Order: sequence, then C-alpha cells, then structure tokens
Amino acid sequence: MFEKCEAIVMRTVDYGETNKIVTLFTREWGKVAAMARGAKKPSSRLSAVTQPLAYGHYLVRRSRGVGLLHQGELIDSMRALREDLFAAAYAAYIVELTDKSTEEQKRNPYLFELLLQTLQYMSEGRDLEIMTFIYEMKMLSVLGIPPVLDRCARCGATEGRFSFSVKEAGFLCHRCEAADPHRFSLSPASARLLRLFYHLDLARLGAISVKEGTKAELRAVLSSYYDEYAGLSLKAKRFLEQIAELKDKLDLGGERET
Ligand SMILES: [Zn+2]
Repeated sequence: MFEKCEAIVMRTVDYGETNKIVTLFTREWGKVAAMARGAKKPSSRLSAVTQPLAYGHYLVRRSRGVGLLHQGELIDSMRALREDLFAAAYAAYIVELTDKSTEEQKRNPYLFELLLQTLQYMSEGRDLEIMTFIYEMKMLSVLGIPPVLDRCARCGATEGRFSFSVKEAGFLCHRCEAADPHRFSLSPASARLLRLFYHLDLARLGAISVKEGTKAELRAVLSSYYDEYAGLSLKAKRFLEQIAELKDKLDLGGERET
C-alpha cells in the first residue's frame, strides 16, 4: 500500500547503477528510508524530488527496512540553500543534527515543523548562524538535555548577574559562580537571547540583529554544551567550523545580516 506523506529529504545514498536510497524526514511518521528506483538518472521523474533538502509530498510504501518511493511532488526545492556555500553548510549541519538525534519511524511533528521552518528561514536569507543557534537551543529539549535558564542552576536564585556553566547545565548566579571555574561569562544580551531562543515560537520570529561579540559568546556556550552532553559526532559540524573560518578570512560576515 502506498501512502502519502509530507517530507524533507535528509540524505541520499547511491544504490546500484541508477537507484538511490533516500532518507526522508516525514511529518507523519518521522524518519523513513525508501528506495527511489531510477532516481540517479537525470531524466527520472524522481531526480528533482530526491535531491537533499528537497521538500514535498511523497508516495511511499513503508516497510520495516527500506521502503519504496513511488512518486514525489516538490513544494520547495530549497535551491537557495544548495547554491550558496555558506547556506548549504549550515543547512547540512542542522539536518545532520536532526538525523543523528532521531530514530527511524518515530513520529515527531513538532520537530518536523521546526526543521522545515528553520530551513525556510535560512533559504529566505535570514542570518544563518542565528537560525542555527535557535535550532540548537530547541533541539536540547528534543535530546532530553534542557539547560536551566530561568534561575541559577545551583541555588535557584532568579536575581543577579548570570554566567553559564556547562558542568551545572545552566545559568549560575554571581553568588555561585566560584563553583565552576570553567563557566562562560555572559553579557546580559547573551543571557536574554539564550532564554529567548529556547522559548521562542519560531513561527513568530521577528527581525533579530545580534552583535558579533554576542554571537561569539553564544557559539562558545552551545558548542561546549553539545560536546559535553549530546554525544554526537557530526561531520557537518567540522565542515561548518572550517567554513566559518573561511568566512572570517573573506570578511563576508555582514553580507547576509538581516
Ligand atoms: Zn546561585
């Protein structure tokens, strides 16, 4: 039985001369793998709908292992994300993060919507790094490692000056900061943004403009927190770091600011 689903192509792997095995992240069933026969041929009607990041409706026969992809209809090819080196690198990272954080056939419509909306914002030219920070913050609850952001993780105080402790998994007030010599100092802007990104309804995202210094603080906190707790090794992350260095060297930092 073929069933219709709405999906984003997470990755593909060639199979034989002409086929591809496509990993779809579907709104209906979570992650599923399906064989797309003939999809490697440019003339195939499956060629465009099986490109990585393609978003569309698909007809799939599911099975325990690899199902069968019968047909697809593009809603958005996300071409803007594939044609820009920086956008492609950030998009690949959030897709791989999602892929590594999810099991097959485990439905999660919240996460589907989050990924779709983030990719769409990126393809509309929103700040790639900010979108990635928001996605990373929201993924922490999906991964089951939410940080404490509304009070001091140690004493519970809600007033004071806060830093971020990876060890304590959240904010530390100035009274408790000696408990973690490796804590990250936070500007008030960074503390506010970490909270905002975590709680924000992505559908209502307004214009956000963030200074480079604040971005550096957020980058350091998130990177260290993921290294400590997420237990993920992501190829796309290393590529992203190289790309970010390149971007600094080329001084293209301001070009995609929103
Ligand atoms: Zn405290």
